[in-house]
Amino acid sequence: MTLLNVEDLKVTYATDDEPVHAVNDVSFSIDEGVNYGLAGESGSGKSTVAEALLGLLPNNGAVESGTIEFDGTDLTSLSDAERRDILWEDIAYIPQSAMDSLDPVMTTGDQIAQAIHTHRNVTETKAYDRVRELFEIVGLDPDRIDDYPHEFSGGMRQRVTIAMALALEPDLIIADEPTTGLDVIVQDKIIDKILEIQERMDSSLLLITHEIGVIAETCDELSILYGGKVMEQGSVDNVLVNPTNPYTMGLKNSFPEIDEDEDPVAIPGSPPNLNREPTACVFEDRCPFATDECGESHPELVDLPNRNHRSACHRVKEAAQLRRDADEPET
Ligand code: ATP
Ligand code: MG
Repeated sequence: MTLLNVEDLKVTYATDDEPVHAVNDVSFSIDEGVNYGLAGESGSGKSTVAEALLGLLPNNGAVESGTIEFDGTDLTSLSDAERRDILWEDIAYIPQSAMDSLDPVMTTGDQIAQAIHTHRNVTETKAYDRVRELFEIVGLDPDRIDDYPHEFSGGMRQRVTIAMALALEPDLIIADEPTTGLDVIVQDKIIDKILEIQERMDSSLLLITHEIGVIAETCDELSILYGGKVMEQGSVDNVLVNPTNPYTMGLKNSFPEIDEDEDPVAIPGSPPNLNREPTACVFEDRCPFATDECGESHPELVDLPNRNHRSACHRVKEAAQLRRDADEPET
């Protein structure tokens, strides 16, 4: 069963200057129980997608068009406030830099209890029992619920934010860069914990990260975003093992976790200008394989013959050859 279906989502930010076209016709869907990854470099529109889904865009951000269906309801027809109310019960959100946004002058336990009180009519005792239970679930000592954020390490603070997000037993967990800024060992522990909880609660996961290796380890399916466009999409096995899009190939080479024997190579060039809606392929000026056609239009995201694999590239039919060329060391 499809839990979340996003179709042709377009989000822009108004600025004093030209608008920023941050998300351009993004479509993807997440089935119940699936771990879904959203990958892409900084500025590719990952957080904007999450905020649009949740009705949490900043004031200058707007959903221009598209549909967002959650559990059969089109959320775009609701006001941001209505959407937030519906979603809060069903979707847990761990925002980017969540662990830094805990209130420093309130105990961690009080913060979680407050979140519970806002949405559930429960007694004080019940709320704090739940806080202790949540601390245990995320691997924190329940006797520390009266500690303040600064008394915890970064990894532990992130566990607190996860506990808070889980308080209402969501169907979908959206985690935006939950491990960024943590050291590698703590990262692994946090990811393991999210997976363990997700499995236990039988919820779906939307994991947003620029670290493609984390998605390879944890997700079933993914979308790769670039310049607010989905470049490639499908099962992790298809997309990351046999990428058909030069952007994915470049991204893969820049993450040594996947091909451990190779040195990472960052993709040369800088991200696209988002002040205009894309007329050429958004990756054209950085793509080693670009042809004239690539300068004329952005390619459609098309289904590939193998199941669960889509790619937006004018040269998708030559993907196997491009992959070989991309692997050739530069001479
Ligand atoms: P990161 O990996 O750095 O978190 P991201 O993929 O989450 O990046 P977004 O934060 O969604 O990217 O930003 C997408 C684009 O929209 C970027 O070019 C960003 O500068 C721009 N943007 C984000 N928020 C605003 C805003 N409030 N006003 C104007 N532009 C914005
Ligand atoms: Mg972000």
